[in-house]
Amino acid sequence: MSERTEYITRPREEIASVLERERRFLTASEIYARLKRARARMALSTVYRTLERLRKRGDVAERVDDAGEVSYMLCAPQRHHHHAICRKCGRVEDVDCTAIDRFSQALKASHGFVLDDHAMEFFGRCKQCQ
Ligand SMILES: [Zn+2]
Ligand SMILES: [Zn+2]
Ligand SMILES: [Zn+2]
Repeated sequence: MSERTEYITRPREEIASVLERERRFLTASEIYARLKRARARMALSTVYRTLERLRKRGDVAERVDDAGEVSYMLCAPQRHHHHAICRKCGRVEDVDCTAIDRFSQALKASHGFVLDDHAMEFFGRCKQCQ
């Protein structure tokens, strides 16, 4: 591997390894703090840029909360699914989308509304936090 390739791939690998350790949404500055703790030298702007690249490649999911704060998690958004988020520890479970067909039919029947897309998040407590 040439030095140049190494220079390009390292931030991505370091960020991916931070995200792999935690099944929860982390903000860019939380990721930056963890990288610093692990003694990885990376500017916050590089963290942002790399996260954006990972998101475009379809390797991470992006989430914007009610306050407008953006956070990231390793995920495969191309495979349609939803997230069940623990309110206590932040752990995220990937949940298959099963109930939507029946809901879509009910929506059409009672409101004449044709559903062509949806976004859902579930909140509660994970196994460990119950
Ligand atoms: Zn996911
Ligand atoms: Zn939990
Ligand atoms: Zn769905």
